[in-house]
Amino acid sequence: MNKGKREFKKAIVDGGKYMLDQGLTVGTWGNLSIRDPETGLIYIKPSGMPYPDITEDDVVVMNSEFKVVEGHRKPSIEYNFHIAIMNARKDVNAVLHTHPIYSSVFGVLREDIPGISEDFVQIVGDKIINCEYSLPGTPELAVNVVKALGQNNAVLIPNHGTVCVGGDFAAAVKIIFVVEKSAHIYILARSIGKPCLIDPADIKAMQDFAKNFYGQGK
Ligand code: 13P
Ligand code: ZN
Repeated sequence: MNKGKREFKKAIVDGGKYMLDQGLTVGTWGNLSIRDPETGLIYIKPSGMPYPDITEDDVVVMNSEFKVVEGHRKPSIEYNFHIAIMNARKDVNAVLHTHPIYSSVFGVLREDIPGISEDFVQIVGDKIINCEYSLPGTPELAVNVVKALGQNNAVLIPNHGTVCVGGDFAAAVKIIFVVEKSAHIYILARSIGKPCLIDPADIKAMQDFAKNFYGQGK
């Protein structure tokens, strides 16, 4: 049997506490998973445990066939969408599901969050949309989340929360901060006026720039 690696279990423990400390989620809600690109194994938070109580021993290790390969805890009820996203997106090795404040407003309104800022369009997508509603923890929710996520790096779950993805934990955390910041700005902008949106050609230009030029060593 495959044995999980300690560094990935630690990343789940530390990452969960970080999400909670940063106010990105609340109580035992939200969840995170990280894939080891070497073995393909997926490390996921145990279900319904307070983040500060979770130890490396509580982390559940699963494979791409949705089976537990190590761990004595029940995995997060959302293991279906975590693994379905990783199966659909080879570029994704970290999935964060949070219950945050600002982007959740758009899940309640069932409205898109448009790409209103430079950082958002560069790393999240042109806009993010709500997936079709399904109850938490269901296989249907996994189908809906994967479909609405597409090639973007975030998706909204109606009346529930937000899912962000990235090549690693740091990249996925950056996505949720940018999504929250943009949602917050958009709410403020709409409260005092009519927001201006970015021209699609400029969005495309910024996405090309981010991919090919922005940062060191490109
Ligand atoms: P888990 O505690 O099982 O991860 O569930 C929390 C949650 O946010 C469900 O959507
Ligand atoms: Zn949730």
